[in-house]
Amino acid sequence: QFTANQIAAGEVVERPASAVKELVENSLDAGATEITVEITAGGLSEITVRDNGWGMDEEDARLALLRHATSKIRGAEDLFRITTLGFRGEALPSIAAVSKLTLKTRPAGSDRGTHLEVEGGQVLSCRPAALAPGTIVQVRDLFYNTPARKKHLKSAGTEGGAVGDALSRLALARPEASIRFIHNRREIFATPGTGKLLEALAAVMGMETARQMLPVEDISRDWLAIRGYAGRPVLHRSNRRQIIVLVNGRYVYSSLVALAVQEAYHTLLPAGRHPVAVISLQVDPELLDVNVHPAKLQVRLAREREVAGAVTRAVREALISTSL
Ligand code: ADP
Ligand code: MG
Repeated sequence: QFTANQIAAGEVVERPASAVKELVENSLDAGATEITVEITAGGLSEITVRDNGWGMDEEDARLALLRHATSKIRGAEDLFRITTLGFRGEALPSIAAVSKLTLKTRPAGSDRGTHLEVEGGQVLSCRPAALAPGTIVQVRDLFYNTPARKKHLKSAGTEGGAVGDALSRLALARPEASIRFIHNRREIFATPGTGKLLEALAAVMGMETARQMLPVEDISRDWLAIRGYAGRPVLHRSNRRQIIVLVNGRYVYSSLVALAVQEAYHTLLPAGRHPVAVISLQVDPELLDVNVHPAKLQVRLAREREVAGAVTRAVREALISTSL
């Protein structure tokens, strides 16, 4: 039988990468400064996210598995004023509905933890557990009970790559958290959690790439601050995926900003090639129109031509201020 949670799950969690994104956002929302994500077989067989956040008591842990039981806010009218990444109370129940999930959690102030076992959304058991303060969510056999969805998944390699992409964006958006990613027992990256974007970037994209990044900064306006790093043209890539756009601390899809970055490289890159860049905008929330798809964020910016022009100029300045 198909439940509302299984239907919602299709929107929130379409593949291992979206489950990982939601779980890590929950860890960040819980104030975690250290998050370890471990997956096997691209996340198809197992995903484990552990954090040192503030955890949950038994009642909250049970509640967290119910739909729309967010502890965060009531509405999403003004998303960018919300300081938490989650707000819908849909992710955990959605993931639980389509997997075999273990939730172990202990609030900071308590000496007792809770261990919940859930299968296909049904709580099978709940018992006390010993663990350090924080939360461990383990997801096994994602989509085991929704074969149609499972059929859409790609190979473990592709799914694992998508998990890495999603995690690296979160790591870049939150350089103050140390995020460690392990795939099939091998460490893929670990950010130091120093709050420095360039150090997170070095961990995620490699030292060699980080050395080729030029600082971008334009904080001359009171409604828009542009910061980040733009890669030297030699770093060019075959796709635009490595132009990462953050708006007010969130990873977003913004072809406007991505194209504005690309524009700065006009004539500097071979035809059909794309730069590497991480551009972080702080904008007045009033200027944002957020179109919230359950799994991704699309933004429209007011004064978008000014924003695009400013981004292009800031990146271009970074490029010409050094000898290429
Ligand atoms: P949302 O993030 O939109 O509130 P979720 O379904 O993702 O909804 O999570 C439900 C609730 O479970 C959260 O509001 C939070 O209270 C709690 N929760 C989930 N993950 C964690 C975690 N890692 N640490 C502490 N609390 C958590
Ligand atoms: Mg959430």
